[in-house]
Amino acid sequence: MPLMQSPPGAYTVIDGRRYLYFVGTGYLGLQGHPEVIRAACEATEKFGIGTATSRTGFGDCPPTLEVERRAAQLFGMEEAFYFSSGYVGNHILALAIDDTFDAVFVDEWSHYCVFEAARLAGRPVFPFRHCSADDLRVSLKTNLPCRGRPLVLTDGVFAARGEIAPVADFADVLREFPGSILSIDDAHGLATLGTNGRGTYEHARLYGRGVNESVGVSDASGKSPPCPALLCCGTLSKAVGGFGGIIPGSQEFIQRLKDTSPYYRGASAPPVPVAAATARALQLIAAEPQIRTRLWQNVAMLKTGLRAMGLDTDDTPVPICCLSVGDAANMRRIQQTLMEQGIAIAYMAAYSGLGPEGALRVAVFASHTEEMIRQLLDALRGTI
Ligand code: PMP
Repeated sequence: MPLMQSPPGAYTVIDGRRYLYFVGTGYLGLQGHPEVIRAACEATEKFGIGTATSRTGFGDCPPTLEVERRAAQLFGMEEAFYFSSGYVGNHILALAIDDTFDAVFVDEWSHYCVFEAARLAGRPVFPFRHCSADDLRVSLKTNLPCRGRPLVLTDGVFAARGEIAPVADFADVLREFPGSILSIDDAHGLATLGTNGRGTYEHARLYGRGVNESVGVSDASGKSPPCPALLCCGTLSKAVGGFGGIIPGSQEFIQRLKDTSPYYRGASAPPVPVAAATARALQLIAAEPQIRTRLWQNVAMLKTGLRAMGLDTDDTPVPICCLSVGDAANMRRIQQTLMEQGIAIAYMAAYSGLGPEGALRVAVFASHTEEMIRQLLDALRGTI
């Protein structure tokens, strides 16, 4: 397996060679930012590696709380819950709302962790056709028990193919089903989509409806929750440039998460250097919204260039391009040829949502220059 020997960034060292790098999920280019690295080092000297006890012991320390405060600010919410892996976010959400749903409906190409959360919920699970609000409606009408309350799970942005889930259409369908909940894993939408970087719901103009606020019967305020209730979780390990999972929400909702989550009571918080780096990255994102604007300009340049080559790409601000060019052998050849020229892109042989031939995945970052993108396009043009 290839070995990464530098921070992931526009240039990345792999197996001793420096590549122009279009792989992975460091979309804002912050993983190797000097201030992010310095924050990790300084906090480690001050607080050590970790608190060696759970959050309910003496396990809260300043970097953990700073991540939660800054993440809440980014989302425009009262509070946030920070935990050690974005992978478990959907499970944490499902535990918190355990008394509010009777069946789970999942986009068939959702990430592994979304399916795992669905299975762990212990209710019947019904996959529906990828990104299809029509199929969701049919499945709800066919499979939901009388008076049943559905929980619908999906990725906000799909990791390999870069599609944005049609969350507004899903919400329209779910309005017909009292007590329904739409919950998204916004691992790839957070900090890349929406005017304020609040992700897929903001991109779809659903944010005003209240996200991670009131859900189901146990809403303490006594008022009926919106239908559908909107939930989301995210990760700070990708665009944000730090590490760990995050769920923002109202004070009441976050309290509910902490009351129900073993990740609060029974697990260490993310390590100190990681938390401090993440907090600084969130600070940079808030202070410099132009980083996201630059990302979108780069996305537009790359996708326009790919389309000019006759390749099929969508026209969204998502920094992921999924290219199907012939069979698996041809795509391996293209990837190999680019690697020989010092340019790294990914060939994904097997991933949720990819067919038997796999696909090439190209990720673009805010830290790529126009010249770098031109270099990639020229190399692809000469190889395809
Ligand atoms: N959800 C989705 C949709 C993902 O693509 C990933 C990572 N590939 C995760 C969750 C896991 O996030 P983390 O790596 O921060 O645990």
